[in-house]
Amino acid sequence: MDNLTNIFRNKKLKLTPQRIAVYKYLQSTKEHPSAETIYKALQADYPTMSLATVYKALKTLVEVNLIQEINVGEGNFRYDGNVHPHSHIQCIRCGRVDDIEGICFTDLNDKVKDYVDYKVLSNQVYFYGICKDCQEKMKKTK
Ligand SMILES: [Zn+2]
Ligand SMILES: [Zn+2]
Repeated sequence: MDNLTNIFRNKKLKLTPQRIAVYKYLQSTKEHPSAETIYKALQADYPTMSLATVYKALKTLVEVNLIQEINVGEGNFRYDGNVHPHSHIQCIRCGRVDDIEGICFTDLNDKVKDYVDYKVLSNQVYFYGICKDCQEKMKKTK
């Protein structure tokens, strides 16, 4: 908790219970939840917190780079407590999002440099596929 107080202080963020709740929840999961999922998960402990408040807290936390917003397409955003550069893969059947660990695409910045006039700062690489659970389910329904 002390740590979190410091983090927020460094970012000059007011330590509101909502922000703490959202931040802590994202640190506790690797599921890359949507705002709705976070809202539902926190409802028991924070019955007065609205979905709009969750969105606001998420926006603020993204702005100060304490969490990461992942655009998984079609206006669907997921949130990630891990702000270190890493890539994601999404299941096209059930929508789950997983981290891709052990491979780094930061060298893509270098590769792209020759093709654009930009100073390349970062990139987001998304992969799409069918997760293990869905593969199993597909086998069974055959
Ligand atoms: Zn799936
Ligand atoms: Zn992630």
